[in-house]
Amino acid sequence: SRSSGNCADVAGCSVVSFQIEENKEKSQGHEGSSHRKRKQMPIMPMEKYRMKYLWVTNLCSQAWCEQQMMYEFEFPELLKLEKTDAMNKGASIHLARELEVHDVVSVTTQTKEDSWAIKFLNILSMIPVLQSGARVREFPVFRELNGIFVVGMIDELGYTPKGELELRELKTRTTPTLPGTSQTVTHQFQVSLYKLLFDGMVTGLVQPDVFIQHLQLKPDQALGEQVIEHVKRAGFTASTFGDLLDLTCLNLTFSELPTIDCLKLEYCYQADGTSLGFKTVTFEEEKLMELLNSCLSFWKGQKEAQGVDIEEAWKCRHCSFASICEWRTRRSEHLSRTGQSKRTK
Ligand code: SF4
Repeated sequence: SRSSGNCADVAGCSVVSFQIEENKEKSQGHEGSSHRKRKQMPIMPMEKYRMKYLWVTNLCSQAWCEQQMMYEFEFPELLKLEKTDAMNKGASIHLARELEVHDVVSVTTQTKEDSWAIKFLNILSMIPVLQSGARVREFPVFRELNGIFVVGMIDELGYTPKGELELRELKTRTTPTLPGTSQTVTHQFQVSLYKLLFDGMVTGLVQPDVFIQHLQLKPDQALGEQVIEHVKRAGFTASTFGDLLDLTCLNLTFSELPTIDCLKLEYCYQADGTSLGFKTVTFEEEKLMELLNSCLSFWKGQKEAQGVDIEEAWKCRHCSFASICEWRTRRSEHLSRTGQSKRTK
C-alpha cells in the first residue's frame, strides 16, 4: 500500500525537501552534558552525554580516534576554529548540491515529534522518486543496531546505467588531494553503515514500537499546525506523530525499493568545488560488524575510550585535544620507560 504525495513531481524529478526551521525541543541525540560533573556511580556514556541515539558521524569520529570523539563531547569549546570553519564550508557545498535536485522548504516545528515528522515527510516524498528511477538527496536513515539506535543522512541515492541502486557520498577536502588510508577507512565505514541502515529500512526491520522506545517520543502527540499542512499537501492523512510513523514504516516496507548495490565516495576540493576523484567501496559485512560492535561496546559502558595506537600517533599532531589528552600522556610515559629499559639493557 504505497502512497504518493504532490510534493514530489516524479516526472520532472522536482522534489521538495522539508527543512526544520525552528526547533524548541533539541532534536539531536546529544542534548548537552551539564550534569556531567555530578558525583555519583559511573554511568553509561549514552546516559552521561544524554544521548537517545547516535549519529553515523559519531561512530565515524570514534573509528578515527575514540578518545578524541569523547573529548568532543566533553570539551566542545576546545575544537579548533579551523575545523569548525572547514565543516561550515563543507555544509555549504552539500547544500548547493541538494538544491540541484530539489527545493528546500522551511517548516516551523514545535516538538521533538514534529522534527522527526519532517524526516518522515522527506522519506515519504522521496520514495516515489526513487521508484521512478530518479535520484534523491539527503535521505534520512535510522534503525536499531545491536541495542543502540543509529541515525544518519545519505547524501545521494541514484541508479547506475545498469539499473543498480548506488549510494554516493560527497566528501569535501581542504587540500586538493585524495585522502590517505586512515581517512578512507572512516569514509568506508560511514557509507557501509548507511547501507546497513537503508537496507534494514526497506526490508521491514524498523519497528514503530522500537523507534518510540529508543527515542522516547509520544505516538499520540498531535502534529504541529505547519507540519499537518504539509502532510495534507503531500496527499497523506495523519494527525498524530504515531500515524505518520506507521505510515512511513509501511511505505518503506511495501515500496519494493531495492537494497543498495553500490557504494561510491566522491572527493571535491573545498576551495573551488572541483571534483578530485571517486572511490568505489566494497561492502564487507563481517569487517563492518566487527568495527561497529567495538564502537558500540564503548557506548554500552563495556570498555573505556581508547586513543590511537603508536602507528597512528601522527593523528595527535592535528588533534584539538592533544594538550589535555591523558591517553597521549600515558603513551609518551610508556615509551620513555621502555626506551630507558632498552638503553639499560
Ligand atoms: Fe586521540 Fe591523539 Fe587526540 Fe589523544 S591526542 S585524542 S590519542 S588523536
